[in-house]
Amino acid sequence: MAQKAATIGIAVPQPKKSCTDAHCPFHGTVRVRGREHTGTVISAKMSRSAVVQWEYRHFLPKYERYEKRLSKITVHAPDCLDVKEGDMVRIAETRPLSKTKHYAVIENLGREKGYHLKAAAMEASKTGRGKKVEAKEGAKDGDKKDQKDSSQEGAQ
Ligand SMILES: [Zn+2]
Repeated sequence: MAQKAATIGIAVPQPKKSCTDAHCPFHGTVRVRGREHTGTVISAKMSRSAVVQWEYRHFLPKYERYEKRLSKITVHAPDCLDVKEGDMVRIAETRPLSKTKHYAVIENLGREKGYHLKAAAMEASKTGRGKKVEAKEGAKDGDKKDQKDSSQEGAQ
């Protein structure tokens, strides 16, 4: 494996760390070519993999307006870039690395501003309408309310 870090052909800073990851575009044998995107890491629970999501606008000719759409793909997260949930990352296309991965992270741009708010909104939209209301109530001192309710029930 090449220990010496080579430039990958895209103007991104060289990772500060080194790694022994064979699928790392900087320290492994995988080369990047093709498309590039910038997105947010919405999950980094897998080993050396991450889920990256970004938004794009799709034009609807009938209404002459744009709608928001989401792209969500699994990418390879090399050890040297320390990819965490909430990070903004640049990704570049590679050869297929596994069944679902054909992109690798090439730059970690740091934590996205307001990610926790966005994540909470995404979580709320996943659950149904009824649950959404419950979540809102829960956010407003939900614990205290529950305690009151339970004490009242106990009195009755
Ligand atoms: Zn590396």
